[in-house]
Amino acid sequence: MTSTQVVVVGGGPGGYAAAFLAADLGLSVALIDPEAKPGGVCVYRGCIPSKALLHVAKLIDEARHASAWGVDFGEPKVDLARLREFKNAIVKRLTDGTGSLVKFRKIQYIQGLATIDDPHTLTVKRTSGGEETLRFDHAILATGSAPAMPAALRVDDPRVMDSTSALDLPDVPGSLLVVGGGYIGLELGSVYAALGSAVTVVEMTGGLLPGADRDLVDILAKRVAQTMKSVLLNTRVVRMKAEAEGIRVTLEGEDVKTAGAGEASARGNSQVFDRVLVAVGRRPNSAIPGLASTRVKVNDRGFIVVDEQMRTEEPSIFAIGDVVGEPMLAHKASHEGRVAAEVIAGENVAFAPRAIPAVVFTDPEIAWCGLTEVQAKQEGRAVTIAKFPWGASGRALTLDRTDGLTKLMLDAETERILGVGLVGPGAGELIAEGVLAIEMGANATDLKLSIHPHPTLTETMMESAEVFFGQATHVYRPRR
Ligand SMILES: Cc1cc2nc3c(=O)[nH]c(=O)nc-3n(C[C@H](O)[C@H](O)[C@H](O)COP(=O)(O)OP(=O)(O)OC[C@H]3O[C@@H](n4cnc5c(N)ncnc54)[C@H](O)[C@@H]3O)c2cc1C
Repeated sequence: MTSTQVVVVGGGPGGYAAAFLAADLGLSVALIDPEAKPGGVCVYRGCIPSKALLHVAKLIDEARHASAWGVDFGEPKVDLARLREFKNAIVKRLTDGTGSLVKFRKIQYIQGLATIDDPHTLTVKRTSGGEETLRFDHAILATGSAPAMPAALRVDDPRVMDSTSALDLPDVPGSLLVVGGGYIGLELGSVYAALGSAVTVVEMTGGLLPGADRDLVDILAKRVAQTMKSVLLNTRVVRMKAEAEGIRVTLEGEDVKTAGAGEASARGNSQVFDRVLVAVGRRPNSAIPGLASTRVKVNDRGFIVVDEQMRTEEPSIFAIGDVVGEPMLAHKASHEGRVAAEVIAGENVAFAPRAIPAVVFTDPEIAWCGLTEVQAKQEGRAVTIAKFPWGASGRALTLDRTDGLTKLMLDAETERILGVGLVGPGAGELIAEGVLAIEMGANATDLKLSIHPHPTLTETMMESAEVFFGQATHVYRPRR
């Protein structure tokens, strides 16, 4: 039996960030994951492959639109095999990198699945066969999450995809139904729409991206209405059945009659789609074998319960990332992982961010951090909202993309920035300034007085602070 000070179970962005920092802090570390190299969902079948495809989707959309600027490329021809190669090469390059970093740091990497034996021992079933038992002082559980597949949507047919199989790009279906109007459904739906599929999105609630501020989502929804075949809100999939010509889907909802993959294939409320992507959320991988034999608690939503220092109820076991709760995002997982490593190394730190950014990488992108308007209303907090429409941004005009908005949620008395919301191309990059502003306790004056380069979309951050004072150079909106 080998011994280690820290064992990390799961090599995603949470797990490998934790393992790397623990090693940097001088601890002996083992990292366990079923893949040959660290990366987890994010690198192998999440953030990275989806963003590679979204980059290409954006290029296709821009090439199509370029005739409006006097440049005609003709209809783009897509070579799916080469597109897949491009995406896979990125994943390989990144995971080759994480693999090398494991070696440089002298981390013991074990490829396999872990079972907990007791609070200080686990056994790994090696992918290559055989088992290895490991004794540890501390364990960090970073087992992540997997796509949720409700029983009603479970059809044993490769034409019914989850996000993982959709990222494999098996083909470009003539018609695609995306079940779920959350970020994963919209991102992958946008990719298939750009590649040429007629995409229908069904969303159970009354709007896309439930939880996000409506003024931001409305701008995206307008564009989605142009790029996708249809978006059906307040609509549920009640049945799915594999047939020879496609997947027959029965929908229930107000907008259902206008939907479909073609009138010929519509029957009652059911329509046939070439493929279906189920993107209705993710469930935490907390059913780790043997976990029940410890004091680790799992809540009724399946998340492992931890405190601010990422400790579970079992003193030797920590947990981080998707398996401990929302928001299920890679950067949140990494930061939690680093906190766990530092706490194990004896530092008195906690995971207590003021702002965790969320980005939806559609076109336009949506991003927010800190307090949202929806949240402020729910909590009955009095905030002042300052909005700068991108129609007044010179840079947005040069990009021919005035469909953007920057808004600040501010404390009316202290002028402190509590939240930032953005919609528009590049919003995912711009939001980092909002995170920094909130973390640093910046107020509207700080943002207003920080000179932003011209002409850039970053100026919309500065000008929205000017809007707060009723003094924005490029919009006339006197303070009331
Ligand atoms: C299509 C898609 C797009 C996404 N895009 C983004 C994005 O743009 N930005 C963003 O921030 N997030 C994005 N996410 C979410 C992001 O991937 C996750 O939040 C992130 O990967 C969570 O990291 P993690 O370390 O908690 O776990 P994971 O990345 O899920 O990794 C957990 C690892 O643990 C392994 N494991 C599980 N059980 C065991 C066991 N018993 N023994 C050993 N290993 C085990 C798993 O196989 C996996 O490799 C996306 C997700 C998807 C599906």
